[in-house]
Amino acid sequence: MSETYDAVVVGAGISGTATAYHLKKFGMKRVLLIDREAGVAHGPTRESAAVVRMHYSEPVLVRMAMESRDMFKNMRVLLGKDGGFKEKGWFIALPPSMMEAAQRNIDMQRHLGLKTGFLSEREIADKAPWLNTDGVGGVIYEPESGYADPVQTTEAFHHAYADLGGESRFRTPCRSLVRSGDRIAGIVLDNGSISAGFTVNAAGPWSKYLAATAGLELQLRAVREQDAIWQVRPNRPMPECSFSTAIEAAYCRALGDRRFILGLGYPKPYHDVDPYNYKRTMDDDFRMVAFEKNVKRVPNLEGAKFLDAYASLYDITPDFYPFVGPRAGLAGYADYCGGSGHGFKIAPAIGKHLAQWIVDGRTGHEFAGLSYDRLAKGSLYGGLGGNRG
Ligand SMILES: Cc1cc2nc3c(=O)[nH]c(=O)nc-3n(C[C@H](O)[C@H](O)[C@H](O)COP(=O)(O)OP(=O)(O)OC[C@H]3O[C@@H](n4cnc5c(N)ncnc54)[C@H](O)[C@@H]3O)c2cc1C
Repeated sequence: MSETYDAVVVGAGISGTATAYHLKKFGMKRVLLIDREAGVAHGPTRESAAVVRMHYSEPVLVRMAMESRDMFKNMRVLLGKDGGFKEKGWFIALPPSMMEAAQRNIDMQRHLGLKTGFLSEREIADKAPWLNTDGVGGVIYEPESGYADPVQTTEAFHHAYADLGGESRFRTPCRSLVRSGDRIAGIVLDNGSISAGFTVNAAGPWSKYLAATAGLELQLRAVREQDAIWQVRPNRPMPECSFSTAIEAAYCRALGDRRFILGLGYPKPYHDVDPYNYKRTMDDDFRMVAFEKNVKRVPNLEGAKFLDAYASLYDITPDFYPFVGPRAGLAGYADYCGGSGHGFKIAPAIGKHLAQWIVDGRTGHEFAGLSYDRLAKGSLYGGLGGNRG
C-alpha cells in the first residue's frame, strides 16, 4: 500500500466529520476524511431538518443529545465557528394514550439533568398560542432545545479538523475496505490503496455496501424521506421553534422568513429504496398529507404558499438506534451509521465518544451498547426508542 494513516474516516456527513475532528483533537497524528462528493455534508446531512431535542426513552441517547446540545450551543468557542444553532425550544403534543409512557421518560430525563416537563393549560396558552389543543393529552416543552443549520454545523467541525492538521479528500470514492483476516487494514481508492490503523465506516445509507466489500454484514435499510417547505401568510402567530405532534404524526420546523419545513413523524410508511438510484422529487400526495396533518394542529398554516419539496434518505437500523463502534473479533474497524432519521442531533457527542473509544481502545458499558455487536447478543433497544421516542 502506498500511503499510511493512523485513521481513515469514510463519509463526510455530520457523523464522519465530527468523528474525524475528535480523532485529531484526542491526539491522533495522521487522520484522513474522504467523501466521493465535492465537500462535507453533501449527502442526507444537507437535507436534515436538524431539529435538536433531547426527548429520548433510553438514557444513553438522552445523554448523547444533552452533550451534543451543549456543543451546538458553544460551537463558536469549541470549534471557532458557529453551527447555526438556535435555542428556540421544542414542543411535542401527545394524545392521552401516550401520557403515562411520556411521564416515565420525563422522570428519567430530569434525573439526568434535562430541563423538560408538561406545560399547564395556562403555559400552553402563553407559550404556544398557535396550537389547537383539541384531543391533546399534554404538551412537553424543552426550553433548551432548538434547531441548527446542518451544513454550517458540519462545516464548523471540518474547519476545526483542518485547523488541527486533519487531511481531507473530496470527489474521492472509497471502492472497498481491505481485509486481512480479522483486521481491516485500509481502503481502496481509484488511484491506489491506503493503509490505515483504523477505518471508520460513516458512509450513511451506503455503509452497508462498503461493509460488504470486506464480507461484513450490516443490517441497514435505506428509505426515502420527504420534507416540504411552506411560507405562511404575514402577521400570523406561528411557532418559532420546532414542533411535533404525536397525534397526527407530523412536525413543523421554523426556517425563518415565515417559512416552515413540514414533515411526517413516526409511525409512517417506510419505503426501501436503492440509495444509489432513488427518486429525489416529492411524491404527488406527500405535499398535501404533510400539510393537512400539520394544519390540524397549527391552524395558522391555512393559506400558506407551497415553496419546495424534496426526498432524501434515512439509514435505518433494526431498532432505530445507530450502530457505533468497533465489533468484537475485528481489529481496525468501527461502524458509525444508522442515524435512523434522528442522527444529526446526537452526532457531535457520538463522534467524540467514538473517537475516544478508538484512541483509548475502550469505552464505558453504556456507550459500548451501541456497537453492531448488539445484534449478535440479542440486545436491541426497545421501548419507544430511537426516532420514535
Ligand atoms: C429529510 C431529513 C430530515 C431529518 N431531520 C432530522 C432532524 O430533524 N434531527 C436529527 O437529529 N436528524 C434528522 N435527520 C437525520 C440526520 O440528518 C442523519 O441521521 C444524519 O445527517 C446522517 O449523517 P451521516 O454523516 O451519518 O450520513 P450522511 O449524511 O448520509 O453522509 C454519508 C456520506 O458518506 C459518503 N459516502 C458514501 N459512500 C461513500 C464511498 N463509498 N466513498 C466515499 N464517500 C462515501 C456520502 O457521499 C455522504 O456524504 C434527517 C434526515 C433527513 C434525510
